[in-house]
Amino acid sequence: MDRDKILLTPGPLTTTLRTKLAMLRDWGSWDSDFNEVTARVRRSLLKVIHGEDSHVVVPMQGSGTFSVEAAVATLVPRDGHVLVMDNGAYCKRAAKLTSLMGRSCTVMPFDEATPVSPVALEAKLTEDKSITHVVLIHCETGAGVWNPLQAVADVCAKHDKGLIVDAMSSFGALPIDARETRFDALIAASGKCLEGVPGMGFVFIRKAVLDGCAGRSQSLAMDLHDQHSYMEKTGQWRFTPPTHVVVALAEAITQFEAEGGQPARLARYTANYQTLIHGMSRLGFMPFLDPSVQAPIIVTFHAPGDPRYDFKAFYAAARQRGFILYPGKLTQVETFRVGCIGAIGPDEMEQAVQAVALVLEDMGIASGEPAI
Ligand SMILES: *Cc1c(COP(=O)(O)O)cnc(C)c1O
Repeated sequence: MDRDKILLTPGPLTTTLRTKLAMLRDWGSWDSDFNEVTARVRRSLLKVIHGEDSHVVVPMQGSGTFSVEAAVATLVPRDGHVLVMDNGAYCKRAAKLTSLMGRSCTVMPFDEATPVSPVALEAKLTEDKSITHVVLIHCETGAGVWNPLQAVADVCAKHDKGLIVDAMSSFGALPIDARETRFDALIAASGKCLEGVPGMGFVFIRKAVLDGCAGRSQSLAMDLHDQHSYMEKTGQWRFTPPTHVVVALAEAITQFEAEGGQPARLARYTANYQTLIHGMSRLGFMPFLDPSVQAPIIVTFHAPGDPRYDFKAFYAAARQRGFILYPGKLTQVETFRVGCIGAIGPDEMEQAVQAVALVLEDMGIASGEPAI
């Protein structure tokens, strides 16, 4: 195979040739051409969630986690109290960074195989009046659960709490409409469902809370309010922008819009997901989640029960055949994950299933059936 390996991972992911080619030029960070690209990207991002009237969008250098950290630092007052609804690894990461930045943080645990509960949230907010902000992970990429954004946002709005949404692995694919769903901040990144390359995140901040965010951040580099003010004033990024990442994202967004935007992307990822699930179940594999709570973003499969199975060997053999799988991220059960996102379609997913079939054969494993 002389094509790049297909990345069946939740970012970085497979990008189109057009997106890669966009990175072949150098750009000056002060140059008006580059400032125009930044402005165009920001306008397009706001359009994806219909947030032009209600929100601003602030780009931030770094991987997605940098933007989650920046959002918490900028939105939550130093004496604020954050409630993290936890049903997986990315929730735990959000709680950890919140605590490390000195904000008081309460974790509300849920099973990693189920969505978080808006009813339990309501009870918690009624009982503990000191909570100022709620953190929700929209698609928990750890297991792949689709969490109920609208219902959680409604509870937060009713109790007048700030809602911070990590929509990293859902933005651009799952529907999010700022006209219907109230959130103070929503975070995503270049290298996920928009199919850009990794290197920058962006945070939507509700205009009504923006002014109040001045001076809250204990970090200079992570201060989204400062980043926003500077960008509005000058059209430039505060510190060195990831120029190639930004132009690649602009090109990826052009293709996203031409494809038909979020509904088209969701349709393609759903087709990828269906192809994957059907193909893998033919081989005996069992998904970890109930289909009713599964987002068509990333699928966790139980490891095969056959004693000859070993993830490292399985991974290496799939890699040899051109497909990069992802290890599991669950604490209790042995699993592996397969992403459905990126510039790939059902054909690539069918090829991936075919590759897994051959890998099982090579390893002498008759079926992907789990032990349980
Ligand atoms: C990818 C992802 C992130 C960010 O991870 P990075 O490794 O920093 O890019 C955060 N939250 C979720 C839910 C994600 O899927």
